[in-house]
Amino acid sequence: HASRTDGVDKNVWVEFTQLAADYKAVNLGQGFPDFSPPKFIQEAFCKAVSGGPIMHQYTRAFGHPPLVRSLAKFFSRIVGHEIDPLEDILVTVGAYQALFCAFQALVNEGDEVIIVEPFFDCYQPMVKMAGGKAVYVPLRPKAASGAVLSSGDWVLSAEELASKFTPRTKAVVINTPNNPIGKVYKTEELQMIADLCIKHDALCISDEVYEWLTYDGAKHVKIASLPGMWERTITVGSAGKTFSATGWKVGWAISSGHIVKHMKTIHQNTVYHCATAAQEAVAQGFEREYEVFGSPESYFQQLPAMLHLKRNKLASCLESVGLQPIMPQGGYFMIADISSVKVDYNDQSSVDEPNDFRFVKWLTKEKGLATIPVSAFYSPEHSKEFDKYIRFCFVKEDSTLDAAEDILRKFN
Ligand code: PMP
Ligand code: GLN
Repeated sequence: HASRTDGVDKNVWVEFTQLAADYKAVNLGQGFPDFSPPKFIQEAFCKAVSGGPIMHQYTRAFGHPPLVRSLAKFFSRIVGHEIDPLEDILVTVGAYQALFCAFQALVNEGDEVIIVEPFFDCYQPMVKMAGGKAVYVPLRPKAASGAVLSSGDWVLSAEELASKFTPRTKAVVINTPNNPIGKVYKTEELQMIADLCIKHDALCISDEVYEWLTYDGAKHVKIASLPGMWERTITVGSAGKTFSATGWKVGWAISSGHIVKHMKTIHQNTVYHCATAAQEAVAQGFEREYEVFGSPESYFQQLPAMLHLKRNKLASCLESVGLQPIMPQGGYFMIADISSVKVDYNDQSSVDEPNDFRFVKWLTKEKGLATIPVSAFYSPEHSKEFDKYIRFCFVKEDSTLDAAEDILRKFN
């Protein structure tokens, strides 16, 4: 085998999604809604597949023309820059492939990529497969008096971030709203990151798959909209998260044409393009959202309003059983401290694993509730400090959240 597969063979989603299925657990693990996407997008998909022969055939390599047109129209208004549909957008197989194309196209052998911890796990293997070196900088819980209760209390130190830049630094990767803690970066925080990127002539890869999902008045800001950042930012999005249709695997990267050009090279020589009908449906979805933007009919208002309630429901449940949650300002997930739970582990096979991995396996196998260990979102150097947290997904039917609550109440 090729050496590039060494050291990247383990995958938390592969392992824990299978475990949840094997034990038929109530699943608050992998992040996906267990409810249907909105009617309008389901209808758009049905219309696309029954719309004649062309929807079943190849389309343009870098994005189905109606989709790149609607993405450009929609996001030009948000980012405050006229986005060229043909030059500045690449449609990909989910946000995953947008990230993959970015690292492959932009990172050279020996380049350094700064990753803010905790991070969506795939950034590290993707940087490694591109021949780059991941350099980590943590979000740290503010040492405030009392408990840290909101993801907003987890902050990035400007000095610490500045200290990570070297002449080899190629890019900084951020994720807002963040997976797994739900931090939504404030404009000042983004400006600090932007200033350093500009000072060191580095790129910024901004993973914004949860961009519409913010709570309690937190506002999502695109780092690409800050002065001097359009030219150096690759913004990654996902129709899966945008329209609650994760299985469609439609994503995109938006950036300046001089950057997207190189990502297109990777794309045309790997997957070439993604499913035509799914792209057509997503295009219709964005057309509709453009028309109703900012009104109560917009799914980009309805979904966060619904998830806000689910977030609160799960948080009260966790609090009441003594699992102190960190309240997320955005996204699909909530992490909670499991230190207070004393477990008699029977499972000796997991004895060498991190505390949170052991706990999640026990909770799935013995109690029938699937979650995700948070140390999986850290580099090996820092994972030990964070193995007292597990992650819960709350983008679930209330009945699923109730079933999880029943399980938690029984053993605590
Ligand atoms: N980035 C983050 C932060 C994610 O949580 C996910 C998982 N949805 C992805 C990227 C990948 O998204 P997609 O399912 O569109 O490939
Ligand atoms: N982004 C989702 C999560 O964090 C799904 C990850 C995946 O399927 N690989 O749970």
